[in-house]
Amino acid sequence: MKRIAVIPGDGIGEEVIDGALEVLNAFSFPFKYEWGEAGDAVKERKGVALPEETLELCKESDAVLFGAVGETAADVIIKLRMELQTFANIRPAKSFKGVKSLYDDVDIVIVRENTECLYKGLEFEVADGITEGIRIITRNASEKIAHYAFELAKKERRKKVTALHKANVMRKTCALFRDVCRTVAKEYPEIEFNDYYIDAACMYLVMDPWRFDVIVTTNMFGDIVSDLAAGLVGGLGLAPSGNIGEKSAIFEPVHGSAPDIAGKGIANPSAAILSATMMLKHFGFIDEANKIEKTLEKVILEGKTTPDLGGKLKTDEMVREITKNLELS
Ligand code: ATP
Repeated sequence: MKRIAVIPGDGIGEEVIDGALEVLNAFSFPFKYEWGEAGDAVKERKGVALPEETLELCKESDAVLFGAVGETAADVIIKLRMELQTFANIRPAKSFKGVKSLYDDVDIVIVRENTECLYKGLEFEVADGITEGIRIITRNASEKIAHYAFELAKKERRKKVTALHKANVMRKTCALFRDVCRTVAKEYPEIEFNDYYIDAACMYLVMDPWRFDVIVTTNMFGDIVSDLAAGLVGGLGLAPSGNIGEKSAIFEPVHGSAPDIAGKGIANPSAAILSATMMLKHFGFIDEANKIEKTLEKVILEGKTTPDLGGKLKTDEMVREITKNLELS
């Protein structure tokens, strides 16, 4: 039995996690779900965004299924990623047939270093009107993430790994990351490797996304570039992610709590459902994950979607379409 901590969080987090659980419940996985609270609403009520008991629950679990939080993201999800030492953040961006987007055949996986960089939160106000932030990049973490990217490429039979950095300006931190990636690449001669400056890579991603297969990059660049990649394939409603550590893993949609649509029942549940299928694959339930993904593809192709993808369905109606089709298949 796997222990899964479920943290719905704020806003649409709750709505999409309900949907993901309904889809998982169409099967009988050996999962024990245990709920924890975190986020803006908890902070208002209890004065703390990530209560100790939630952190403990996550640490004791085999995986965390996370929705979204709003203003307290740094105190909740960033802290959880650091505390659970989930060093790799995996963010696939794959085109779905039937989704209006810039291109219809994008298939990129972004492997983002998840424990250091500017997201360590080392920020200080050194004088009135003067602030500073410290960027940490280590050889150890860079080697770990570079190896992860190449191993993922091998496992998924992908052909190329591209490292993104800005070593011409950040001549210590980014140069270390770039050099480590170049060295690790030599261990994988069967996989093509190159590296780009992050700014040029953003342009290439928009104009020529086919030159990318697996992207490996540092924490903040990875955060930004994965939203860009999500925009290439139909938006945040379709972008899942997994945070992988040695012992723990956190699966969460890339999107936030979306206060503009929260409570309206129109949030796209796909990113949360795809995050749940990443969790299934992590535990080895490959066939079931593929079945859910195929069913989701069919439902999207038939236009039975929430309004962000051009459909007219509410979140729960789209989820019902998926579970209905799962039962039929
Ligand atoms: P937060 O501060 O929690 O990150 P945000 O609004 O800044 O919230 P997101 O929540 O990621 O950032 O939302 C960005 C935009 O994408 C919003 O317009 C939101 O409505 C839309 N969006 C995000 N997720 C979804 C979803 N699952 N379905 C439909 N639209 C979504």
